[in-house]
Amino acid sequence: MTYKSLHKLSAEQGGDVYNFGAGPAMLPAAVMQRARDEFIDWRGTGVSVMELGHRTKEFIAIAEQAEVDLRDLLKIPTNFTVLFMQGGATSQFSMVPLNLTAAGDSVDYLHTGLWSGKAKDEAGRYCQVNVAASSEDTGFTLIPATDRWQLDPQARYVYFTDNETVHGVEFQLTPDTGDVPLVADMTSNILSRPIDFSRYGLIFAGAQKNLGPAGLTVVIVREDLLDQARVDTPCLYNYAFNAKSQSMANTPPTYIWYMAGLVLQWVKAEGGIPVMEQRARLRSAKLYRAIDASGFYHNPVAPDARSRMNIPFSLTDDSLNETFLKEAMEHGLLALAGHRSVGGMRASLYNAMPETGVDKLIEFLTSFERRYG
Ligand SMILES: *Cc1c(COP(=O)(O)O)cnc(C)c1O
Repeated sequence: MTYKSLHKLSAEQGGDVYNFGAGPAMLPAAVMQRARDEFIDWRGTGVSVMELGHRTKEFIAIAEQAEVDLRDLLKIPTNFTVLFMQGGATSQFSMVPLNLTAAGDSVDYLHTGLWSGKAKDEAGRYCQVNVAASSEDTGFTLIPATDRWQLDPQARYVYFTDNETVHGVEFQLTPDTGDVPLVADMTSNILSRPIDFSRYGLIFAGAQKNLGPAGLTVVIVREDLLDQARVDTPCLYNYAFNAKSQSMANTPPTYIWYMAGLVLQWVKAEGGIPVMEQRARLRSAKLYRAIDASGFYHNPVAPDARSRMNIPFSLTDDSLNETFLKEAMEHGLLALAGHRSVGGMRASLYNAMPETGVDKLIEFLTSFERRYG
């Protein structure tokens, strides 16, 4: 069954479809409806947002409003610059070392899963990478205790992945790095809890998990770190260059920027970050409780490192995986397959996931266990 036929089916039956994909992920229904309503004719201009020039006053107003709303929601201080970039979160794996180090500099990485692993490997092409802590030997099922981190006070920055999307591991604390700038990949948990910017030098997030469709990356960088790029950094990879042109050095992904703006307006209308945080805690706690209460499903992550956003779990009998996924889909529960590198299942519960989606998933888990367990 395809997604398309399922959507049709569910509309005909009056049922709902829930997309648990890790990214690109589901967007709030209200955002999709608004985008549909404005699709062909944006506010009487006679054109779609995607047909507007990026230097028109109409698009610049859309772009500026998105920044205002992001700053407002996350309480971003004025000494931080917000950039709307392309290249996905992965391009930041090289931009961060290119902009913040010189050749020969040393940097600290906390290795807690697939994404921090990729980031540290990329940084290793530009500078000396010190793995200050790693949970690789446990299969990335915990955050190493802070008293065992080997942070180098001479490091140019400390890098970590706030939420490891594949392994389902999330930091419950902000690493204390003293005067060394802290850099965080918040791709899969931005907008789900407050951020204390006084503790950070740079935060980035690809949009397609919790912020909008794929194609945009938000970078929030402290001003004193903005203009330190190596001279041979490609200009589009240079933070200061992008800041000077208001993220419009070349044609930005205008429609995605607009969509992210709609998501930000939705988060505001729903009550902002405190409400998103409360919902995230509630949704994930419910699902972990159901998994832990069963003898049939298993989540391997230490309770104090469990992600509120991505919940991997396995079935006691792996040979049931395909049946599980097929039946889940027939129940309108989509994209529950785990990441190809770890297998099993994964339920992603981003801001757009209503609590009813989690309730439906738990109902299905229970009935599947009853029938096959
Ligand atoms: C998805 C993801 C990435 C990669 O994002 P791309 O936009 O595909 O480059 C990086 N980090 C984290 C934490 C992610 O969840």
